[in-house]
Amino acid sequence: MTENKSTEDKGEGYEAVVVGGGAAGLSAALVLGRARRRTLLVDAGEPRNTPAAHMQGFLSRDGMPPAEFLAVGREEVARYGVELVRDRAVDAVRDADGEFGVTLAGGRTVRARHLVVATGLKDELPSVPGLAERFGRDVLHCPYCHGWEVRDRAFGVLATGPQSVHQALMVTQWSEDVTFFLHELTEAELSDDDRRRLAAAGVRVVPGRVAEVVVEAGRLTGVRLAGGAPSGGVTAHAREVLFVAPRAVPRTGLLRRLGAGLRETPFGAYPVIDERGLTTVPGLWAAGNASGFAEQVINAASRGYRAGAAINGELLFADLDAAVAAGGAARV
Ligand SMILES: Cc1cc2nc3c(=O)[nH]c(=O)nc-3n(C[C@H](O)[C@H](O)[C@H](O)COP(=O)(O)OP(=O)(O)OC[C@H]3O[C@@H](n4cnc5c(N)ncnc54)[C@H](O)[C@@H]3O)c2cc1C
Repeated sequence: MTENKSTEDKGEGYEAVVVGGGAAGLSAALVLGRARRRTLLVDAGEPRNTPAAHMQGFLSRDGMPPAEFLAVGREEVARYGVELVRDRAVDAVRDADGEFGVTLAGGRTVRARHLVVATGLKDELPSVPGLAERFGRDVLHCPYCHGWEVRDRAFGVLATGPQSVHQALMVTQWSEDVTFFLHELTEAELSDDDRRRLAAAGVRVVPGRVAEVVVEAGRLTGVRLAGGAPSGGVTAHAREVLFVAPRAVPRTGLLRRLGAGLRETPFGAYPVIDERGLTTVPGLWAAGNASGFAEQVINAASRGYRAGAAINGELLFADLDAAVAAGGAARV
């Protein structure tokens, strides 16, 4: 049952449209629904952590399957009259009156006073044969998500750039057996500080490109280096777990189309936002991995919550100010 308090029937008009139904979007929609705001949530149904069987580190939901977490979230959001649709937003415009028109792949166009972009990001893995198939299982990117589960095993770290040194050092908190495969890095690209820290952490450094990951009986057992001598003739290294930093591609298409300011980071271009998630475009918000790289599920949910609550306040005061300007009452 819908119990939002809007008095005006705008047909396909919503007070807020949320694009993306991961933790960030659902959390924004939950607050908006509970604040009795006419809200639509559009979700294409491809959350970032789909490859992982379990979601770790979310207080009170540690270890829950990601799909179950989202299903519970959708159920909770629907209780408050939020309309949930499985579709993809393919275009958005901002009219002269400041409202948004959002076009969905299914052909529907909806209008919104506020638009939340919670579309997440896409992980692009290096093209090493066998790597993608093991992502989220024993090819991992984030020790906070999976480190505990694989603790004390034989780790490899596949370098994809200079920031991989940080990853190689970080994972030593979870295993003392770490080999750093330079892959896309040359030895000359390691700074003296890098070398000193890697040595102090007991990380073995192996130059040369990784040609493939070795998978036997359904699990990763090692990596094979491209032929030749860089590793002193050894081409296969037994490893149980391989950490790799994928290239993050934030899904910022809608934000770009609407002219939101972006800031370049080593992990992609993200929108300039204030502490509530408001972009440089009035009424346009971003939350979760669409707004920043380092968002675990709990942070994404928190970002969405903040944006949702802020939108409710903005709507309330905009309507009150309009009523005051018109010399009347906002609600009768
Ligand atoms: C393998 C793996 C394991 C992980 N494990 C953990 C973990 O254990 N713990 C943890 O805290 N974090 C984990 N993470 C990180 C976690 O996935 C992210 O923190 C989280 O998904 C971010 O939530 P989000 O709502 O911003 O984006 P997402 O969860 O990615 O949700 C975005 C949603 O928006 C939809 N969407 C995108 N574009 C459109 C569009 N145009 N129209 C409509 N819908 C659209 C997508 O289909 C998707 O459903 C993991 C990540 C990976 C890759």
